[in-house]
Order: sequence, then C-alpha cells, then structure tokens
Amino acid sequence: MTAVQLREADRVPVAPQITYTTAHFVGVKFSDGLKDPQTMARLLVAGFRLAGYDGVYVGWESSFDLVAEAMGCKLEIKPDEIPVVRERVVKNKKDVKMLRVVDPESSGRIPIHLKAIQLAREQIGTSVPIFRYVPGPLTLVGALIGPEKMLMNLIKDPSFIRQALEPATESAIKFAAAAVKYGSDIVVVADPIASTTVISPRMFNEFAYPALCQLIERISEVGGIPSLHICGKTEPILEEMTRTGAKILELDHSVDLAVAKAKIGTRVCIQGNLNPAGVLLTGDPQDVEAESRICIEKASKDGGFILSSGCEVPLDAPLQNIKAIVSAAERFGVY
Ligand SMILES: [Zn+2]
Repeated sequence: MTAVQLREADRVPVAPQITYTTAHFVGVKFSDGLKDPQTMARLLVAGFRLAGYDGVYVGWESSFDLVAEAMGCKLEIKPDEIPVVRERVVKNKKDVKMLRVVDPESSGRIPIHLKAIQLAREQIGTSVPIFRYVPGPLTLVGALIGPEKMLMNLIKDPSFIRQALEPATESAIKFAAAAVKYGSDIVVVADPIASTTVISPRMFNEFAYPALCQLIERISEVGGIPSLHICGKTEPILEEMTRTGAKILELDHSVDLAVAKAKIGTRVCIQGNLNPAGVLLTGDPQDVEAESRICIEKASKDGGFILSSGCEVPLDAPLQNIKAIVSAAERFGVY
C-alpha cells in the first residue's frame, strides 16, 4: 500500500501474479478449485504462505472467460487444463441485443470466486492486500464474439463492437464492485487485447480507453484501488494507461522498466515485470534473482514499485523460483 501511494516502503514489496499455479505447489490439480471456493481459497493461501510474498491474487483462470461464461459462453473444462471458450454467445451482430449484464451474486461461477475472496480474507487477515482480476471491456467483447471476429470488426463494423462494449463494460463494473464488497483491496483490470502487440495505439484510444476509464472510475468510487494489466508491448500507450486513473500499472516483460519509470514513475505505481515463461518457468532461482535485481535497479528508486511477474505465472513454474523473487527483494530491494 505504501508503494501504491508512491512512497518507499521498508523494502520493495513482492506480489507475483500467481493464481492456479499454487495448486501444483501442494500437489493438487488446479481444476479441483474451479467449482469449489474452499479449495480455491485454500490453495491460493497455501501458495502465499509457502512462498512468502506480500499480496494474494484471488481467483482462478482468466477473468474474461469467467465473465464471458456468466454471460452465456460455453467453456470446455478438462482436468488440470486452463478452461477455454468453446462456444461464443455472440455469433452475429443481432445477438448483441440478447446480452445481459451479469448479476455477480448469481451469474455463472462468479459467486464461487466472490466466496473465495471472502474465505481468503478470513484466512490471511486484514494486513495482506487481496488482488482480484476483472476483465477489460474490450477483451471481454473478444471473449463474447471471438477474438478474430472482434479484431476484424474494429475495422469492418465498429458499431458492432461499440454495441457489445456497453453490456461488457457494465458487467465488468458489476463484478468489480462485488469483488470490493467481498474483500478485494486492489481490482486489476486485465485487458490483453488492448495491447499494442495486438491493436494500434489509435484503436486503443478509440475502443479500449473510454471503457477502461469508465470501469476504473467506478472501481475508485466503490473504494477499490484500480490497477491496469495489459500484456505484451505497451510503451506507446503508457501515457494513456496512466491517464485512465489506475493507481498501479502491471507491465509485461517486454516493456523496459527504466523507460516506464522515467515516463510515468512519478504518477503511478509500477508493477512487474519478470519474464513468466523465460525465467519463472524455465529458469532457476539464480536466474530469477538476477532478473529481479535488474527490475529493482530500474524501477524501485523513490518507491512506487512492486516486484512481480510480467504476466500470469505459468502453471508448472517451480515454487523455488517464486521464493527467489521474495529473497531478491530482501537482498536487493531494501530502502
Ligand atoms: Zn498479461
């Protein structure tokens, strides 16, 4: 919380973006927690206790698929595999009118995730922040329509996308407000499709940015701390991401933290950005420590920095590598 307020804590705080991977730390199939809030919360808290980081991400799987399912998409769920959308609810433009905004207390499996937040809070107490992902509106539209069709229609039929953005934004707002009510401190808007790896900065400004501003404003109004996670390359839109009103930006490993720190580091807390596949999954603890040290050197000056992965920690990343992020902060991140 000190880092979020752009001040120096006693040391650089550590909050890896780790969810279902914690199941493997205790030898459980992560799919066991998909429909059971007790298991989900227990495994997430187990990971936190084993690795010793400073904040807990509560939830499982991608938030956009969870909300897409609650809005009518069909997911394919297989043992120990990340669920994927098999059937889209919007097959053509006229289906958009049928979309209903979610009721977080009853739609799909959202209530399971809310319950898990509550249970995790009971287990970890009030001094550890809980992070909760909610979908970025444009990415949620991608899940409802299909990402390829969505991207094509940004050019072919922008009104199709604008119409779908309304219930998508409203659903994300409802979910975010419920997440805060159930005990989340930090609400992280995950919007991978808004990345400049996928769309141009002009399209980001036209389609993603207005909906993000609306969602982030609502998160602040209900008492949550808004954070913004956009995967891949985001250097061309760092300014706009900061102007959304987010208090934290989760930056992926392809962003140079020194560049980000110089551009926006006095206005927003930066979180990142160890390479999830490159070092956390396939590296060893020494590699993780070395890369963590570089992140700390680039972005921790004067506070306002949380050491983390650049994106979700991959399933099968070893516990020792997650512990190494914490030990690196203890060794190199003391203010
Ligand atoms: Zn990401």
